[in-house]
Amino acid sequence: MNITEVIKDKIKANQTVLTEFESKNLLQEIGIEIPAQALTSTKEETLSAAEKVGYPIVLKLIAEDIVHKSDTGAVKLNLKNKKEVEQAYEDLMKIPSQTEKNISVQKMAVEPITELIIGMTTDPQFGPALMFGIGGILVELLEDVSFRIAPITEYDAKEMIHEIKGFPILDGYRGKPKADINAIVEVLLKISDLVIKHEEIKEMDLNPVFIYEKGLVCVDARIILKKE
Ligand code: ADP
Ligand code: MG
Repeated sequence: MNITEVIKDKIKANQTVLTEFESKNLLQEIGIEIPAQALTSTKEETLSAAEKVGYPIVLKLIAEDIVHKSDTGAVKLNLKNKKEVEQAYEDLMKIPSQTEKNISVQKMAVEPITELIIGMTTDPQFGPALMFGIGGILVELLEDVSFRIAPITEYDAKEMIHEIKGFPILDGYRGKPKADINAIVEVLLKISDLVIKHEEIKEMDLNPVFIYEKGLVCVDARIILKKE
């Protein structure tokens, strides 16, 4: 299914919130890197997916009524072998949920220079607006983020990145390598393009995106569609 079909199907079924798994699949479709992922439900499926993805892996409980996964213990990081996967699977299945439960098996991404937040919200007056910030306390506590109304140009994307106060963290702070700014620019442009082409998208939250000296990877995402 292409993106248009996925979005249409969801809206028809009255499902406006895409799961992490679905959201990241869609991002991959538009050329944004994500860790290899598989959706499973049984322990056997989970173990064979783990082998396929390759250790170390992450398991997450995917259910419609679980939004902040780590708050409920639904994220199990850095699982290194079959035994750890079995234990994590048991723990995840104990988490209460009123909706269908699945497991996302994903490759554990290596530690980034820093985590980023890239988002999109719909402004009632101006339409789709893009957001950029550095993850963690910089966003949560200091609200160090930049916004632009879509569509944006390459120049706008560069400005969005440079104007946040935390920019030095991306620019080789304390001997750390410089982050791949062009990779961030590309993601902002791809999201701008996506939301302009698909007015049905109401919100997007890529949180976090791991940024490296070369490239980036989106490890968690949520896409919300408008109601029909
Ligand atoms: P939440 O729903 O709580 O936001 P996330 O999927 O963002 O859950 O996972 C919580 C944290 O775990 C992330 O902020 C990130 O630091 C880490 N994490 C999640 N997925 C991966 C992954 N595939 N590789 C490495 N770290 C990950
Ligand atoms: Mg998250």
